[in-house]
Amino acid sequence: MSAQSQAVPAAATTTGSAAPAAPDRATGATPSGGAHPGSLAHNYHPLPVTVATGEGAWVTDVDGRRYLDLLAGYSALNFGHRHPALIDAATEQLGRVTLTSRAFDHDLLHPFADRLTQLVGPLVQDGGPGAVPMMVPMNTGAEAVETAIKIARKWGYEVKGVPAGRASIVVGHGNFHGRTTTIVSFSDDPDARDGYDPFTPGFRLVPYGDAQAVADAIDETTVAVLMEPVQGESGVVVPPDDYWPALRRVCDERGVLLVADEIQSGLGRTGTTLACELWDVKPDLVTLGKALGGGVVPVSAVVGSSDVLGVLTPGTHGSTFGGNPLACAVGLAVVGLLETGEHQARARDLGTHLHARLARLVDEGLLTGVRGVGLWAGIDLDPARGTGRDLCEALLARGVLAKDTHGSTIRLAPPLVIDRPDLDLGMAALRDALTQLAADR
Ligand SMILES: *Cc1c(COP(=O)(O)O)cnc(C)c1O
Repeated sequence: MSAQSQAVPAAATTTGSAAPAAPDRATGATPSGGAHPGSLAHNYHPLPVTVATGEGAWVTDVDGRRYLDLLAGYSALNFGHRHPALIDAATEQLGRVTLTSRAFDHDLLHPFADRLTQLVGPLVQDGGPGAVPMMVPMNTGAEAVETAIKIARKWGYEVKGVPAGRASIVVGHGNFHGRTTTIVSFSDDPDARDGYDPFTPGFRLVPYGDAQAVADAIDETTVAVLMEPVQGESGVVVPPDDYWPALRRVCDERGVLLVADEIQSGLGRTGTTLACELWDVKPDLVTLGKALGGGVVPVSAVVGSSDVLGVLTPGTHGSTFGGNPLACAVGLAVVGLLETGEHQARARDLGTHLHARLARLVDEGLLTGVRGVGLWAGIDLDPARGTGRDLCEALLARGVLAKDTHGSTIRLAPPLVIDRPDLDLGMAALRDALTQLAADR
């Protein structure tokens, strides 16, 4: 083994016992990595680790092993585990009030809406004279996407004048926008779709990254183009540099809303507050989620101008938990972390370092491809050397958490609060895991 292997974070057992143990009597917690048949539906295939605690970029399992978290809850943990500012905000709010429903206002609802639109409003398309940026609070990402779809359709009928019942939305191959029946209706991933039909009509799939294909798919029924700025689940696919500017032009020319799903790409991950800023593009609607809740509670939102969001009137859309006091307290603290630009700058600087390290692994023949931007990368392993799952298991054994996407691709999305020595530990573990997989074949 190379010298690097010594720098690998140790997955040392401090309290471990070899045999799978029964749940802890006091806490009911299950042992790490054991098989737990029974009461939990099998809609996930997790790596064999059972997390007990987390702090910053690290988690500790029930046996006391420490792991560097390079998945960060699919970017829901951009600020790491239990960021003090977020935990303080949540704890303080738990002592005040946690839910009012939208039947009544509470004292953090308007402050959260104001601060979020101050941050993100300047990054969305200006609605013209008299229009102001607005937001709709929801909970999960899928709900934000559903909300954007509903707004776009209603805007299409009421403002654009699309014939009743005919609104269409253009979406990209390889998209991931969530798991509701309407959203999986326009997925092209069989795993996400099969068995869940009949599907919601009104969506047109075109190749991702091809602006001409979007232009060709637009007609008088088209209300929106809905795309991820960078496709996360697909393996961190960054489109050509002229893609988003071209989408903006096409949408302007054809009177169509440009909707950017920034649920994974937004809030610092790519080195900017929104990934769309990378190309100086202002979408009409932005969906936010994941990191907006700081990994504490689910918080999502749609942000856009009042000339579009104005189609929502009392009773036409809503959510029992959307904009609840606890969510607003955490969301406000998240906005506070982003207002300084510090985390965006970290993602840029550490991202440059990450991509330089990954490029070396390609040069050494250990990886076949690397994509990404900011502190975010999709890496491809030679399928002959193993699957993404094999690599994740090899990383797990070296004290690093990561997750495969499809086939032999894994995604790296370290928390933006990671420090450079820890990132280097993770990269050394990756190199060591890849070297072992290469040697094993
Ligand atoms: C995760 C994700 C969603 C769905 O978010 P949930 O909170 O899981 O519903 C939607 N869009 C994108 C781009 C995502 O990455």
